[in-house]
Amino acid sequence: RTFRGSEELARRLSRVIHERFNQARKVLGLDSIKIMNFCGTHEWTIVHFGLRSLMPKGLELVAGPGCPVCVTPSKYIEDAIRLSLDGIRVYTYGDTYKLRTINEVRGVTSLEEAKAMGGDVKLVLNILEAIKDSRNNGKEAVFLGIGFETAAPAYAQAVLSGKMPDNLKLLSLAKLTPPAMFYAMDILREKPPEPPVMGVIAPGHVSTITGAKAWEPVAENYSVPVVVSGFEPLDVLLSIAEILRQIISREAKVKIEYTRAVTWSGDLKAQAMIHKVFETVDDAWRGIGFFPLSGLRLRDSFARMDAFKQFGIKEIRPEEWRKDTPPGCRCAEVTLGKAKPTDCPMFLKKCTPEKPYGPCMVSLEGTCAVWARFGGGG
Ligand code: SF4
Repeated sequence: RTFRGSEELARRLSRVIHERFNQARKVLGLDSIKIMNFCGTHEWTIVHFGLRSLMPKGLELVAGPGCPVCVTPSKYIEDAIRLSLDGIRVYTYGDTYKLRTINEVRGVTSLEEAKAMGGDVKLVLNILEAIKDSRNNGKEAVFLGIGFETAAPAYAQAVLSGKMPDNLKLLSLAKLTPPAMFYAMDILREKPPEPPVMGVIAPGHVSTITGAKAWEPVAENYSVPVVVSGFEPLDVLLSIAEILRQIISREAKVKIEYTRAVTWSGDLKAQAMIHKVFETVDDAWRGIGFFPLSGLRLRDSFARMDAFKQFGIKEIRPEEWRKDTPPGCRCAEVTLGKAKPTDCPMFLKKCTPEKPYGPCMVSLEGTCAVWARFGGGG
């Protein structure tokens, strides 16, 4: 846990943050404020490098819903378990493998258990591995396409490349992040006397694809500064300092701190590929809600590759949406920055990274998993 030779810079930035926070408090007339970091990888940086310990009292950093595995509905994992037990090969990432479902499917509640019961589940690092393997063995197969805007271009490219064999289908569960950010802002700002969210650290990786422009509605609609940040500890400290500067100057703009990777318009080629392959649909987010235009599904022109259509998998309808968190699990509140992992009585007791009980403990982007591995958010 080192700032890699930048300790003095980190100390200076911490002093700037303390000074600016005192000024910002006076400008806002508030004792405490929250800054939300949307992305699970930013939460990792904050926890791993102990950045919360450098913050002044009253400046709270809260994590947002930026973990794609955490927000993938149980129903679609149950569908995948069913397919695997029926002998269809299911390709999945390692973290989704341990994700527990709410309902049992033939006595099974995860893809890991399905494999132990004879289901055909294969771990892959990316869709290209799934293409290669399914070409070689010729079995009917499905790839679980989980992820945010960062994952979608690879799925789109695979579809457009013509390399997907006929026996492999894509279950596109990819999601778009801005709609979830709007919802999180609504929730986090409606709860006085809780300190309000007065600034947002926007996701760096997602913004390489979407461009910083994707966050403009957040700054405009909620009148808060938004800074697209990189993932080094100094990136995050600089982003916090910039948010406080804007509050003092009564600005609410989108700024790019992560200039070495993010532009205002983003990756236009990737955006065009995503648009060509996917349509945007209203989608269910596990634990937190059903958001308009927040999911990506294959367009009708790619129906022959679409696992929803080819395997008769039904979409969750808005009225069917359920939280899908197991009894006692506070993942829904953790995902919205309304509770800390340590507020959950099961944290590191019934729920551990080795044996996750709730969805936020599964992936390294899940807030509970980050706190469990790197020490309580301090
Ligand atoms: Fe849910 Fe486990 Fe986190 Fe508790 S510790 S909120 S059970 S994921």
